[in-house]
Amino acid sequence: MTKIMSKNIAVIKGDGIGVEIISEAINVLKKVEQKYNHNFNLTYVEMGGCAIDKYGVALPDFSLEQCKNADAVLLGSVGGPKWDDPTAKVRPEQGLLQLRAGLECFANIRPAKVYAPLAAASPLKESIIQKGFDVIVVRELTGGIYFGKSGREGDSAFDTEHYSIAEIERIAKVAFEIAANRKKVIHSIDKANVLESSRLWRETVQKIAKQYPQIQVINMLVDNAAMQLVRDPSQFDVIVTNNIFGDILSDEASQISGSIGMLASASKGEGSKGIYEPIHGSAPDIAGKGIANPIATILSVAMMLELSFGLIQEADAIDKAVNSVLEEGYRTADIAAKNENSIGTREMGQLICDKI
Ligand code: NAD
Repeated sequence: MTKIMSKNIAVIKGDGIGVEIISEAINVLKKVEQKYNHNFNLTYVEMGGCAIDKYGVALPDFSLEQCKNADAVLLGSVGGPKWDDPTAKVRPEQGLLQLRAGLECFANIRPAKVYAPLAAASPLKESIIQKGFDVIVVRELTGGIYFGKSGREGDSAFDTEHYSIAEIERIAKVAFEIAANRKKVIHSIDKANVLESSRLWRETVQKIAKQYPQIQVINMLVDNAAMQLVRDPSQFDVIVTNNIFGDILSDEASQISGSIGMLASASKGEGSKGIYEPIHGSAPDIAGKGIANPIATILSVAMMLELSFGLIQEADAIDKAVNSVLEEGYRTADIAAKNENSIGTREMGQLICDKI
């Protein structure tokens, strides 16, 4: 039988729990491949601490080349205590930055939601969570203060926030396109009362908004947004913001959902290619114990199928499988209530596969 779709996927296991969670995500991908008659060619790529040990750099040129040649990249996590010296010249996270830059991924898309069976895992009061929580944070990824001029001068240090109109326009468009398929409201987060770069951000988002008259734009200052997210998160649907504010707010949003072991993310550029990864790190405290939650990585596979390959039905099948396993009461330790039994990484992965 001819295959419906054939795609090349670069797979980076990375370090720590990366190895365990990727293994479960690949089993899910293979189940989808088999059930829906697709062909996914996997190339395993070295990046992170393991690459530093072997090659002296976090992302060797040939690894980047393998990722560039693929249709999408699936990534576990990188880093660990062995490479954590902040003064070290070579660090695992450099691999992440180089990969995102190499694939020209300027948009980070992070869904955060509370799965109904896990409502009790949210640190917020039930009365707040009952109103619903399902947001997508669209974070600008390759500009702003993380990439601006920085340095030391005598006894002081500086970092520079810098954005061009073109950089703001392209990230705003990503957010508007996502909002068009959701509740048609965007919160654009900035610090326009203080920062010139934020004033340009606000002006530019307003300009792009004219192309999407059906979408309501609400401008909000970042300090207020941080507060509103815990006061009444149900008011948000799509949030668009710069690199540093997005870094902080997406972590805050992730906490509302209960466990970072549940949350996937995508980093995308102009075309269909993207990098798909859980939002969490390599969790060295539980690495190798077989207890890590693989759901964030499995949901990253779902995001890859939808956003890079347009396989919406297949992505939905994964999401539904996750939901139904949770509804049946299965939990890994990170999402289990105090007196609840928990299952391991392997078992959770297998249960989700069985439901597809
Ligand atoms: P972390 O996300 O690895 O862990 C934070 C806490 O959450 C830990 O208690 C961990 O056990 C738990 N946790 C994380 N993922 C989990 C999962 N899937 N299931 C169950 N529990 C989970 O963050 P950290 O401890 O700050 O960082 C550890 C290492 O990971 C560092 O070296 C850091 O640089 C790196 N890191 C990598 C990435 C990435 O690869 N994208 C992101 C963040 C941190």
